[in-house]
Order: sequence, then structure tokens, then C-alpha cells
Amino acid sequence: MFSNQLDLDDFMHGLVKRNPNEPDFHQAVQEVAESVIPFINRHPKYVKERILERMTEPDRIILFRVCWEDDEGHIRVNRGCRVQFNNAIGPYKGGLRFSPTLTLDTLKFLGFEQTFKNSLTTLPLGAAKGGADFNPKGKSDREVMRFCQSFMTELHKHIGAHTDIPAGDIGVGSREISYMFGQYKRLENQFQGVLTGKGLEFGGSLIRKEATGYGTVFFTEELLKKHNQELAGKRCVVSGSGNVALYAAQKIMQQGGYVVALSDSSGSIHVPEGLSREQMDWLIDLKENRRGRINEFAEHFHCQFNPETSVWQYPCQAAFACATQNELQLEDAKTLIKNGCMVVAEGANMPATLEASHCLREAGVLFAPAKAANAGGVAVSGLEMSQNSMRLSWSIEELEDRLHTIMRKIHEQCVEHGREGDYIDYVKGANIAGFKKVANAMLAYGVV
Ligand code: NDP
Repeated sequence: MFSNQLDLDDFMHGLVKRNPNEPDFHQAVQEVAESVIPFINRHPKYVKERILERMTEPDRIILFRVCWEDDEGHIRVNRGCRVQFNNAIGPYKGGLRFSPTLTLDTLKFLGFEQTFKNSLTTLPLGAAKGGADFNPKGKSDREVMRFCQSFMTELHKHIGAHTDIPAGDIGVGSREISYMFGQYKRLENQFQGVLTGKGLEFGGSLIRKEATGYGTVFFTEELLKKHNQELAGKRCVVSGSGNVALYAAQKIMQQGGYVVALSDSSGSIHVPEGLSREQMDWLIDLKENRRGRINEFAEHFHCQFNPETSVWQYPCQAAFACATQNELQLEDAKTLIKNGCMVVAEGANMPATLEASHCLREAGVLFAPAKAANAGGVAVSGLEMSQNSMRLSWSIEELEDRLHTIMRKIHEQCVEHGREGDYIDYVKGANIAGFKKVANAMLAYGVV
């Protein structure tokens, strides 16, 4: 009844049928299945044990109500969720996202991606993702605090330092993590490393906030080095101006590249000669401390502001997609190719559509997929967990060195599994390397 070969179309047909109306989840699985199924078919043990079918079904999904009171005394009701996707190689680990447009589809795609990313880090980390359809924008600090406390009052039943360790993501920064950690501590009467991205005063790790952006740049440098190129001197565009984008931009500049464009959800700025260090520091302060909009940068420094949020139209040699999913589409890919862009790195999760990613790779553009390129954030979260367990803190130098080593090892795994003659398919390499470790652990456990 069961074939010893998996067929991509049959597999995807079954997945879509079981998970209707979840296009982002379908897209994430399709990208993995395209590269992993040919590998699986060469190793029938994975087919026989139905490993890919098991890996595409989350371990569990927890949905809950979050009630809180706003500053006017009105009762507000939101929905919270945690998708615990896979804990074959370690406790569940992955961010929390607060966004009014958050859906279960998004969380399933992110949790699935996290499985492979966490595996690639070489650290013992399982995969999860969670969040709420709550919009922290425009809320007072007290409102955010009341929301976070109510959210954690339910979530705390399902997480723990050896069970599930959430972190931040879009809409969840150090303020939100702090409120949630405070509530967890109050409910459990335990001071343990149950969240990462904490403040330095209470168990946080140095360079956690910089880690995803820095890691993306370290990975891109490895990839360029492999192709006898370097980042220094290259004109780079960076989408977004949030946690990932700002520190990717900062590291690009430290490594000698020019950041010529950045954006937020209201528009983009273009500085053809590249931002100066002073301008970069000003932007980080605007975004992190004053919660400002990017047009304020343009007004302050008299540079070009464009209400068009895309940065892909600006000529560049390297593009860093660091804002959000599906922000780089087929037409954008064609524009990048036309303008001579030679490398695209995904700092965000799934920022390139499948069509855009295929188009870039077919045109010979070096393409660093998210699960490899942005794994630095979760890697330093893993290092935060290690420091919490050992009750000590490592220095900036030690952590940056460890992060660099991890990104180098991720690159090596991509090369090992993605090599096709002279060409390296980083998407395939990341998918197969990430898959193998989790799949082998699942095989060892038997049918559970
Ligand atoms: P933030 O919320 O800090 O930043 C997101 C940025 O993207 C903001 O500047 C936002 O603008 C901007 N943005 C959102 N939509 C658009 C759009 N359509 N066009 C242009 N800009 C847009 O999130 P993070 O930086 O933490 O996360 C960004 C991405 O990276 C997400 O995909 C996340 O899952 C992924 N990621 C994050 C990690 C982390 O450590 N933070 C780790 C690994 C992946 P505005 O301020 O106007 O909303």
C-alpha cells in the first residue's frame, strides 16, 4: 500500500488537503520538500518511517484567550497561540510575534522553518513559534504590560527551561520580554532561563539583540569568500529597520560595505553614497529608543524618502531582506538581477517568494536562505540558555567569536549538502543538513 518512494506532487496534495487555507505553511513546506524528497528517496528508511509526514505535523498547538484592560477601562480580547512543532533534538525554542494580522498559518510556517534552522545551529534546540493578534503599536507601556502579563498567565503552563523557551520576534522586543519574564517569575516563584532576549540585569546575553543581523552578515561573508568575493566595498540595500535590519546594516558597515537603503512599513530611504556611522547610530536610536518612523531620518539628514516600502529598486550589489515574509517578489528579483546584484541574503523569515528565489538562483545570484542566514539569533539564544544554566555571563568578544564559528559551521553544512558539481545550492544544502539531524533523532525514538 505504501510506496518506498515519495512523490512531491502527491505529498504536497496531501499536505494542502490536511491544512487548507494556509498558503504560507504550504510555501515553506514546498521549499523544503523540493530539496529533501530526492534525498529521502535515496534513503528509503526515511520514507518507510514516514519522517517527512511526521515532521510536517506539529507536536501540538495551544490556543488561548488573552483578556486585558486598556487605559480607558475597556476590556479587550485577543487570541494567543504557541505551536510546539518538534522537540526531537532539544526543548522547543522559537520566538513570539505580536501582530494584528498574525494567523495560525504564519505560526505554522515559522515553526516548521525553525525546526531546520535550529538543527543547523549545531545546538540542542527543538522548534516552536507563538504569539498573539495583539498590536503593541500605539499602546501605552502600561497597556503592553497588562497584555503581556495576561498572555503569560496562560502560556506559563506550557513552557519551562527544559520544555519550551520562547524569545522575541516582530512586535516582541526587550520591553515585552521583560514584562513576560516578570510575570513568569511571579507565577512560578522560580528564576530560570525560560525566555531569551532578557535584559542584561536578569540573565540576558550580550549581543543577543545584534545576533541575527550580525549572523546574517557573517554567513554572507562566508558565502562570498567561497566565491572569491568580499563584502567590503559593495553597495548594499537592507529592507526593514527593525531588530534584524539595523544590526545587519551596522555589521555591513563595520565590514567595509556601504548601506545605501533601508525601509519600514511606511517607506524607504535612499542614501546613494552610503550611510555614515553617525547616521547609523542616529537611526538605531530613532528606531530603538524613540519608536520613530523612517521619514524622520530623511527629514533630519535631508536625504531621499520614498513612500514605496520596497528597497529592491535601488541599484546594489548585495541585498539583505530583513523585514518580513514575501516582501521580495518575482518582479523585485528581476530588478535586482537587471541592476547587477550578485548576492541576496534572507535575514527575515521567508522574505523571498518561491518564484523570486527560483528566479534569482537560476540567474546565478548567490542566495542565502533564511534558515541558514538568520540562524544567528536563535544560536545566541541557545548561548543565553547555556549561560543561564551555568549561572555565568560570557564577554562580547567570546560571544561574537562563538557566533562567528556557528555561522561558519552552518555555511560548511550548506556547502557539504548543497554541492552540485561546481555550483552550490544553499537552499538544498540548508534543507538537507537541517533535515538529517532531526530525522535521525526521530528514527532513533521509534514511532512516537
Ligand atoms: P521588527 O519588528 O524589529 O522589525 C521589522 C521591520 O520590518 C520594521 O522596521 C518594520 O517596519 C519593517 N516592515 C514590516 N513590514 C514591512 C514591509 N512590508 N516593507 C518594509 N518594511 C517592513 O522585527 P525583527 O527585525 O525582529 O524581525 C524581522 C524578520 O526577521 C521577521 O521575519 C522575523 O521573523 C525574522 N527573524 C527575527 C529574528 C530576531 O532575532 N529578531 C531571528 C530570526 C528571524 P515598522 O516599524 O514600520 O513596522
